[in-house]
Amino acid sequence: MAIPQLKLNDGNIIPQFGLGTWQVPNEDAERVVLEAFEMGYRHIDTAELYMNEEAVGKAVRSSGLPREEIWVTTKLWNNHRGKREVEAQFEKSLKLLGLDYIDLYLIHWPAPNNGPIEETWETFASLRDRGLVRSIGVSNFDERFLPAILNTGIIPAVDQIELNPQFQQRATVDVASEYDVKIEAWGPLGRGKIDFDSGVIGNIAQQIGATWAQVVLAWHIARGHIVFPKSVHKARVAENLAATELVLSDAQLQQIDALDLGEAGRLSGDPALVN
Ligand code: NAD
Repeated sequence: MAIPQLKLNDGNIIPQFGLGTWQVPNEDAERVVLEAFEMGYRHIDTAELYMNEEAVGKAVRSSGLPREEIWVTTKLWNNHRGKREVEAQFEKSLKLLGLDYIDLYLIHWPAPNNGPIEETWETFASLRDRGLVRSIGVSNFDERFLPAILNTGIIPAVDQIELNPQFQQRATVDVASEYDVKIEAWGPLGRGKIDFDSGVIGNIAQQIGATWAQVVLAWHIARGHIVFPKSVHKARVAENLAATELVLSDAQLQQIDALDLGEAGRLSGDPALVN
């Protein structure tokens, strides 16, 4: 199974499809990640917040796969700001993961109440320049928060934002695409909270003999989003991976584009309010 690859604006190549690990407990994460590697996954999304970096790192190290074949993303939580805090927390993540470098390090949220972001972002650039991180990016920086980052002249490789067919964040996607910042869609399946199995997506799934989750994931991939749906169930982890082989027609893609509800489609916190 060939997972599509994307070239980031810093020249690095990222697997466009991977495994999310939010709410995967540390006790289960090693098994889940190893099972995913066996199926062909090569990209794992974790975070300081998820408290499973240790198990994710164990899986990476015990997989037997060459380190350079695996893409590991982790994220800095909102209470760490400024050079000293960022460097100290980065060291902790690296140590928990048990790795020499991280492929992608993200500022998890803009957290506007926690002070200016510039020094934190410049420290990310220095971690990259020192070879400790291959790519740097942001998460939940929508069109209101991206300009502060872009104005530093250090362009993020990705912006990881909440995005599903009902919440397409077009304003943010437009700003990002001006700078060739790739969009990573978190909650790509609507976090299991939306009934995509009826209506447009359910119909397409029936027509092509796929599941609704596969149709949603195939849409993301066709629209250029990097995705890492989360499941701890082997059958679903495999089902999601098989979506990388699915090709939707232009008409089907456009039908899904039309499901955007704008702001009403948001499932999780507004970045202006998450601190
Ligand atoms: P998701 O959209 O991936 O949904 C996960 C849920 O969908 C599962 O718990 C399960 O209930 C269901 N599901 C998964 N596969 C399915 C299938 N084949 N059929 C039916 N149901 C299925 O939501 P998510 O986990 O919130 O997002 C994915 C990843 O994005 C996370 O695990 C995490 O790594 C990342 N994330 C990042 C942020 C951020 O702030 N940067 C926030 C949330 C999540």
